[in-house]
Amino acid sequence: MPLQAVTEEIIRRALGAINNRAYLPYIDPTRRSKLAPLLNGRGLDQVFRVPNNFLAVYAQSHIGERNVKDKAKNVTAMTTANQQDPEDRLIHFKNDPPEFGTVIHELFHWLSHKDFFAGFHASPGPNVGIVDEGITEFLTRKITAEDRTKHYQAEYLEVRQLSLGDPNVEERFLQAYFKGDRENIRWLREHVRAARRRGVRH
Ligand SMILES: [Zn+2]
Repeated sequence: MPLQAVTEEIIRRALGAINNRAYLPYIDPTRRSKLAPLLNGRGLDQVFRVPNNFLAVYAQSHIGERNVKDKAKNVTAMTTANQQDPEDRLIHFKNDPPEFGTVIHELFHWLSHKDFFAGFHASPGPNVGIVDEGITEFLTRKITAEDRTKHYQAEYLEVRQLSLGDPNVEERFLQAYFKGDRENIRWLREHVRAARRRGVRH
């Protein structure tokens, strides 16, 4: 189904906003090559979807989990990767048109490195909860002034707390998130675990 003009317009605005950010050089070349046509307005329909039955798509990517229906209630969008090819990803929106911030949030997931996406996004993941959502929200809220307190607020606050007063932490986030840098992924995992042991988590 082709995207509505208004939805396409929001997506274009989100792509433009992301394209203007200083961290673009961090993005892995494979992801950047997938981004390039979108920035030129090509292939939006191949990446962005507004399914007729969002719940069914959600359930499909959460097979084997409990309370899928309840969990899906608070979800407004999601990014899924093809199991055979983790670089082949789709973004699904529940609402049409989606909120600008929601498009930005999903675009960050879509742009993240496959090792990070797979390691952190997969539920239950490698035991640091959903810190990827915290980083994704952290990046998203730098771009939009929309009220996003309904979206991963606890995870956002945790990441903000971790990065306060230390620019090296944000640098490590970016290295892990966009480049899939192993050392920084390992560091992030340790750092988050240690902070949670100390009770930093909100
Ligand atoms: Zn997310």
